[in-house]
Amino acid sequence: MTAIPKLRLSKSRFTTGVQCHRYLWWKVHEPNAEELQPDIVLRDRFYQGSQVGALATEHFPGGTPIALPFYEVEERVEATRKALDEGAPSIFEAAFFADTTYVAVDVLERLDDGFRLIEVKSSSSQKDEHILDAAVQKHVLTSSGLDVVACEIMHLNKEFRHPDQGALFVRTDVTTPVDEYLSRVEPEIRAQLAILDGKLPDIAIGSHCFEPRECPFVGRCWPDSPDHIIKLYNVGGVKAAQYMDRGVHWISDLPDDAKLPHAAQRQLRSIKTGQVIVERGLAKALEPFDVRLGHLDFETIQRAVPVWDGLGPWHQAAAQFSYHQEDGTGGFTHAEHLAEGPRDARPALARAMIEATADAERVVHYSPFEKTRIKNLQQVVPELAAELKQLESKLIDLLPVIRNNVYHPEFQGRFSLKYVLPALVPELTYDDLVIVDGMVASVEIARLLFVAGKLSPEQHERTRHDLLEYCKRDTWATVKVLEKLRELAR
Ligand code: SF4
Repeated sequence: MTAIPKLRLSKSRFTTGVQCHRYLWWKVHEPNAEELQPDIVLRDRFYQGSQVGALATEHFPGGTPIALPFYEVEERVEATRKALDEGAPSIFEAAFFADTTYVAVDVLERLDDGFRLIEVKSSSSQKDEHILDAAVQKHVLTSSGLDVVACEIMHLNKEFRHPDQGALFVRTDVTTPVDEYLSRVEPEIRAQLAILDGKLPDIAIGSHCFEPRECPFVGRCWPDSPDHIIKLYNVGGVKAAQYMDRGVHWISDLPDDAKLPHAAQRQLRSIKTGQVIVERGLAKALEPFDVRLGHLDFETIQRAVPVWDGLGPWHQAAAQFSYHQEDGTGGFTHAEHLAEGPRDARPALARAMIEATADAERVVHYSPFEKTRIKNLQQVVPELAAELKQLESKLIDLLPVIRNNVYHPEFQGRFSLKYVLPALVPELTYDDLVIVDGMVASVEIARLLFVAGKLSPEQHERTRHDLLEYCKRDTWATVKVLEKLRELAR
């Protein structure tokens, strides 16, 4: 059996190293680093990825799975060799080790003149980063003596609609771009192994920290100052790197007359003066809110493999709402709805929401997200389209009122409720809640609806309770933020 050294590369390490050698070094030498432990959202991504991978194998009847634990590396390589010798038409998770690098190929398909290497992705398009994945695999397979004549990325089809409109997968041939990249694989492997043999390398921060995806060590490498240029409104990692390339590292370095969006100019003034900035236009912007108001917020599910009619891969669908409404005496009533069971939740949710919001003159929401969801519901629940259209006409977005009129130094260039609430209403936090993030809520709803059998009745009830509390806090947050804005306007 091939003896495989502990310090080796893999497909994932290789692609990490191409992004940044420092990231690779930490990944290999500090595998237990807090930053590398997958949270519930990432674990759900892995779960959905394996679900997609299993569905992909159905397209290769008679294939041989290498069904051994992932850590039994030598045994997997051995089992793959045996399946090849026995003439398997295709092998799933075919394992190879060569040039100090281990790879497991999602699908290895035997052709008349060689082999086709297929990388399965749960994304709904083929991306540049997939070429690296396939190239390092081709390098290892070729070094193992296989004749790889074709490479494909098999990804989800964005045109597919549940339950059976179109094909779930698209197969994109990437043989040419993989071959074009191939000559760079071997030198990169040498460079990565040399780095791993030495001390933590010094690598300057830059756009590579966010591309092709955000590095988990950004918190270690990037300055955590509200004045850093990455905290400027409308500036993410890539734009921040462009500023830094021009020598601008701090927001306060920008001249007063810098050409910036108004919100960023307000931020610049706020950083230079240390003050909360409130524009004169705030009172006028709040006038449309001087009617009988409701406050609405949705939570959604978002699955790689669509679950309800008309949904495509990764489409979002409303599964929960919270609604606070002024009762006319200075108090509020509250209504809520959370889907139960795997059937399509949208008709019942739409009915409950129309009933709850019937008396409101305007319905406050935060960001265009709720409007998009209500438009979508008009299509999927056509029998309620007229009522939903009427609800849509009542919507009023609080976010642009803040973005166009207010800047608090603690916004840190962001206007999401998670930044705005603690700055404007510090006494109202999410600290006492179990779920504090929309992505986590989405994963928990999916767990509740689609793997309910795996939750005990206590876990089920607790998760429902946590979700209801979280969504309720979001609508109460817009109630309190609006109160604060009225104070600021006075
Ligand atoms: S934050 Fe940037 S420099 Fe630091 S390890 Fe990650 S990619 Fe490398």
